[in-house]
Amino acid sequence: MSGDRVCLACGSSEVERFLHLPEVPVFCNVLLPTAEEAVVAPRGDLDLGICRSCGHVFNLAYDPELVRYAEGYENSLHHSPRFQSYAEELAAELRDRHDLTDSHVVEIACGQGDFLKLVCSEPGCTGTGFDPSFRGENPGKGITIEPEYFGARPLGRTVDLICCRHALEHIDEPVEFMEMVKKAIPAGSSPAVFFEMPNSLYSLRDGGVWDFIYEHVSYFCGRSLSACFSRAGYSVRRTWETFAGQFLCIEADLEDAGSIAPDLGPVPETAELVGLAAGLGEQMAGLLDQWRGRFAEIAAAGGKVAVWGVGSKGVTFLNLMGDAGAVGVPVDINPQKHGLHVPGTGQRVVAPENLPDLGIRLVLVMNPVYTAEIEGMVRARGIDAEVVGV
Ligand SMILES: [Zn+2]
Repeated sequence: MSGDRVCLACGSSEVERFLHLPEVPVFCNVLLPTAEEAVVAPRGDLDLGICRSCGHVFNLAYDPELVRYAEGYENSLHHSPRFQSYAEELAAELRDRHDLTDSHVVEIACGQGDFLKLVCSEPGCTGTGFDPSFRGENPGKGITIEPEYFGARPLGRTVDLICCRHALEHIDEPVEFMEMVKKAIPAGSSPAVFFEMPNSLYSLRDGGVWDFIYEHVSYFCGRSLSACFSRAGYSVRRTWETFAGQFLCIEADLEDAGSIAPDLGPVPETAELVGLAAGLGEQMAGLLDQWRGRFAEIAAAGGKVAVWGVGSKGVTFLNLMGDAGAVGVPVDINPQKHGLHVPGTGQRVVAPENLPDLGIRLVLVMNPVYTAEIEGMVRARGIDAEVVGV
């Protein structure tokens, strides 16, 4: 079946629907103060389509009116040592690849500015970050964070590197957004442009099935990301995977507008992505059946299941589990989540320190990349439950 929408990345009308998940929470990353508020949190439909031309996946039912980033948004991953060391490596790579001494770096959607500070550590390197959720003191040392969306005002100064991590997948018109970024670059500047986001190939091929969430309009692969940048007038230099294949990166500039380098790096074939997408619904149903059975056994024996990681994946998983998920105890190391409730299901998030008293028989690690780190924390608390990456 062809959709009535054109591809958000390449503009093709060859868009095919492949998965419908009704009434999922609109904000997986907004936890609620009470269970009552959590179960009535706003919901929307996921109606995923894939472009037969570039492999781009996006939510055909996405309604930007439902999504407004407001106070209470907490998706900082910096509490994980694994993620923190990855961010440090990534910043070091950017500093090595682009001589950032006496340069100026702009970060779009910089959160609280942690990554921007890492990138701007060369002598004389300054930075400007933009994020409406910024709530701290400005860091100083040449780094300023504007608590607003990027593009509200012209940049007004030359820039050498523009970076943006985990934001483009939230934007309802990514080509228009990239055009807006281009317009904000002052004449005479020729910055390198680095973007990072979740990798759709990982979600479709490597079991990242809980990554499909309402907050993400788009799921990019190397090909669709290149198409998006090229249509917006950038020259695409390279795309590559990081973080065990879970993230996708792109580097581009404005020197040869609209071109795509012939040696982009490994880019999945569109036909492969279309095939994977077609099987996703069945794969998801099979996994849910399997976990519902296991949860029911543990519930019957009076035990509980720790669902470790109350981010997008954990919240999606608990919601799709339905009633069978009630024996799940959401756990997170981020203290800002403790005592709050999961949107949709209403469970209360606990700290790892609370686990020893709860009769935990099984620990599900919602992102398998953290399994070793979490198994260490579980054992350190004297819990001998099985620890499984989901
Ligand atoms: Zn496309």
